[in-house]
Amino acid sequence: MADSEQLGRTDDHPPTIVLDDVSRDYGATTAVDGVSFAVRDGEFFTLVGPSGCGKTTTLRLVGGFEQPTAGRVQLSGEEMVGVPPEERDIGIVFQNYALFPHMNVRENIAYGLNFTDPPDGQTKAERVDELLSLVDLDGMGERDPDQLSGGQQQRVALARALAPGPSVLLLDEPMSALDAELRERLRVELKDIQQTLGVTTLYVTHDQEEALAISDRVAVMRDGRIEQIGTPREIYHQPATRFVAEFIGDNNVFAGEIEEMDSKTLSVQLAGDAPTVVDIERPAEDRLSTELQTGEEILFCVRPESLVVGHEKNALNASVESTEFLGETTRVQLDWNGKPLLVHGDETVGERTSVGFDPKNAHIIERE
Ligand code: ATP
Repeated sequence: MADSEQLGRTDDHPPTIVLDDVSRDYGATTAVDGVSFAVRDGEFFTLVGPSGCGKTTTLRLVGGFEQPTAGRVQLSGEEMVGVPPEERDIGIVFQNYALFPHMNVRENIAYGLNFTDPPDGQTKAERVDELLSLVDLDGMGERDPDQLSGGQQQRVALARALAPGPSVLLLDEPMSALDAELRERLRVELKDIQQTLGVTTLYVTHDQEEALAISDRVAVMRDGRIEQIGTPREIYHQPATRFVAEFIGDNNVFAGEIEEMDSKTLSVQLAGDAPTVVDIERPAEDRLSTELQTGEEILFCVRPESLVVGHEKNALNASVESTEFLGETTRVQLDWNGKPLLVHGDETVGERTSVGFDPKNAHIIERE
């Protein structure tokens, strides 16, 4: 049984989607392994992780396209065991958002109303008009799908999924077939539409930047399990595990031993041949699950943007391995005593450089 915070039971009303210790095996493969989370009413919740980590299977379990091997799925407080997808109050957009090629845009959207009446006593035609306007395709209802751009087709697929006014919207990599610029534009539109409707949304992506940009909360998955659930800022600034620290954005992870500490600062002897001690800010007592001890081995991370060339505090002398110009910044790959470090700098860095960081920009990672 997952703890109540994970299941969102601190809210006044029950969460709209609840997974409680859900697993799904395929023969010897465990695709989803004891996953628990709760998505609140109106929340935009994203599953992110590398290929094969179990995101799609988790979404399919919520949609009823798969049945759990163990555990429970609830939608709006109701047990979903044995309930087929068409009897669940969901709309779904898949990766290949396959529109029906022989139907025009209106007919494609109206298809979403074949099994359910439109909400609020609307006629089918009124509902389709409303959705065309919502996804910004007014006047395009008579077009065939092949007369639309990829982004427009994707919006039709979204309108079709939203047509019956579902309580839950499931989106599985809906933008992966689109180019980067269009994806960025569409994710802003998608978020707008989601907020306008207040529809509870479960979104699957392998793109961590997209996950941070679009979500109220994110669950980072790895090998069928959830590593961490949090707001984009929590996930980015307070990664709970080394995997999250390294998967979400670039990061520098250091291992070391606590040499000394006072109420504000930890002095950490970094692992490696060269004896180097750095100071990092002591986290607030309630941030860690156990009390820190002198002599304890810890892991902490410092983001590349916080590892500053020429910073005199916690200075590390490193050699420059490569630079990569990215427009807004240049990524500089360094070697510090055999350990790779990534910093943001400019191309003027020489063959050797010193980088340092403010103690408050180091974050202790609790679990390997
Ligand atoms: P991707 O980003 O590549 O789509 P994912 O995180 O969505 O990956 P899943 O598709 O959920 O991952 O797959 C999780 C694991 O379960 C993988 O190892 C996959 O090969 C396996 N798997 C998924 N569906 C089946 C199936 N129907 N039969 C057997 N194995 C499956």
